[in-house]
Formats: sequence, C-alpha cells, structure tokens
Amino acid sequence: MNAQPPSTPPVPGRTVACPTCDGLTSLAPEADAKAAACPSCGGPLFTGHPMALTAARFTAHTAHSQVPLVIDFWADWCGPCKTMAPVFESLAAEFEPHVRFAKVDTDAERQLAEYFRISTIPTLSFIHNRREVARVAGAMFAGDLRRWLYEALSKAQDGAAVEPRDAP
Ligand SMILES: [Zn+2]
Repeated sequence: MNAQPPSTPPVPGRTVACPTCDGLTSLAPEADAKAAACPSCGGPLFTGHPMALTAARFTAHTAHSQVPLVIDFWADWCGPCKTMAPVFESLAAEFEPHVRFAKVDTDAERQLAEYFRISTIPTLSFIHNRREVARVAGAMFAGDLRRWLYEALSKAQDGAAVEPRDAP
C-alpha cells in the first residue's frame, strides 16, 4: 500500500460578525469578503458603512469577530463629531474588509462610554483580539485618520497591543 501524501491542512477561516444580525460566520481567506453574505440573515458581511455598536452587540464584534474594529465615540450635540462623521463614513468603504467601522452614541450607550473611560469626543478606539491597540481623541481630517488607521492596523497585525479590553 502506497503511503498517502499528507493531506492539506484546512485553511483557517476568519471569523466575521455580521453588521446586521451579529451572527458569526467563518470566511475563507480566498473568499471575496465584500461580496459575502451572512448565512443567518442574508445581508452583506461588509456594507461599506459604519455600524451602530451597542453594549448588546459588543462581544460579537470585539471578542468573537477576528476583524479589527475601529469605534467612533460620538454624540448628537458634538460639532467636531459631526464634522468628522463623513470622513469616518468614507474611510469605512476604503478599509473594509480589513477593518470594521462602528459608531457608539455616547448618550445612548453610557455603559460602553464609561467602560472605555471616554472623557472627550470624538474619540476613536481601535480594537483587535479583545485589546485596544490604539486610541486617539479629537476630530481628524481624512489624511490623518487614514494614516492613524494604517498604523493601528500594523500594530494589530504585530500583536503589539497596549491594553487589554475584556467585554464589559
Ligand atoms: Zn446577519
């Protein structure tokens, strides 16, 4: 009997949380993430827009999802937040599916704002593997924000997280 060649190990998929229903799915590396649909709700796994993050949705998108997450902490009364909103929105389409974009309304989600010790808005927090990799406060123009995102993404890929962030 001839020896069988070792079987190819299964390609590890990347766990992605659905931005609509929070269902988890494993996406093969070769899959076209931008065209992939959620098996639970049928919606797109990447919409090109920031999702509204709440305490109830937090664990799915920070602990289970393997997609780095950038959160914009904002409030309706905050002028600089409104100035930055279209910039954040446009970069979501640019950085997906490498980064998931989310917004936390700090008035509606006081628990999350307190958990992150948000003292000024807008504040951006970049999270990967349950850890906060980078944080910055104050509104930014597109060029600065893009540069910050690339730096945070590279830190996330190096595993150089600075502060643990367990689920609240
Ligand atoms: Zn879904």
